[in-house]
Amino acid sequence: TDLVQHIKNKLHGKVAIVTGGASGLGEVTARHFINHGARAVVIADVQDEKGQKVSVSIGPDRCTYIHCDVTDEDQVKSLVETTVSLYGQLDIMFSNAGIIAPKMQVVTDLDMSAFDKVFAVNVRGMAASVKHAALAMKEGGVKGSIICTASVMASMANSTGGTDYVMSKHAVLGLVRAASLQLAGYGIRVNSVSPGMVATPMMCKRFGAEKEVTMKKVEKFSRLEGVNTEKHVADAVSFLASDESEFVTGHDLVVDGLFVYPL
Ligand code: NAD
Repeated sequence: TDLVQHIKNKLHGKVAIVTGGASGLGEVTARHFINHGARAVVIADVQDEKGQKVSVSIGPDRCTYIHCDVTDEDQVKSLVETTVSLYGQLDIMFSNAGIIAPKMQVVTDLDMSAFDKVFAVNVRGMAASVKHAALAMKEGGVKGSIICTASVMASMANSTGGTDYVMSKHAVLGLVRAASLQLAGYGIRVNSVSPGMVATPMMCKRFGAEKEVTMKKVEKFSRLEGVNTEKHVADAVSFLASDESEFVTGHDLVVDGLFVYPL
């Protein structure tokens, strides 16, 4: 029907970048963008082999993999410039690359070098991605949409650790608030998405278990029945990326089935 076609094409003609697109939420969202009509998606990551594989499976006509370590601003700048030169414009930036520290650290255990690494990716890398996407959108006169991956941990904390991560995700909301205000005059929207717990490779590693087992473990963290999945997040990101959310900016869209807290 026309309605189904309309929904399927909600990103018609749009060009997107997904940072951290080789795995987990980024990978599923990149595919989702294409399935909803995007003209092209650029996958940016540091896991080159995985990223190339995802890109090939999406199809060389609509997907390119570019190595980009978001902690290096020059690489972020060049990622955005290459995207614009390949596809003519940038409409969507899904700034999603993020890491957790190898150990769950309470404040008295903070390992400052691990702390710096988390902040380099989750805060500085996120800011550089928003900066260069916004510059390209301004220059191209594109009323683009920027979506950052925050977390339920952007608005709460965990008594058993994750101090660095919690702090970094709170900072993402600050970035979204500042950038959305500063870019509204150009018609550029900036929002975040906050997943609960999804059994991505990041979470499987944290729980030291395979996907199926990890899904069972994360299930108890939402009050809605079922498991929080990559698709739940991809649907929310696609909404924020599309014109369906044309008057939504500075918003944090929580996709957690009501997270069970405090932890
Ligand atoms: P993931 O580890 O499967 O994917 C993250 C990707 O980011 C990986 O491919 C990794 O190589 C890439 N990456 C890491 N450092 C990078 C860098 N410096 N430059 C470029 N790419 C880099 O994890 P995920 O669960 O899909 O996480 C995606 C985002 O979602 C992260 O920001 C994470 O904090 C956030 N998040 C995840 C969950 C969850 O439960 N999985 C919950 C809330 C928020």
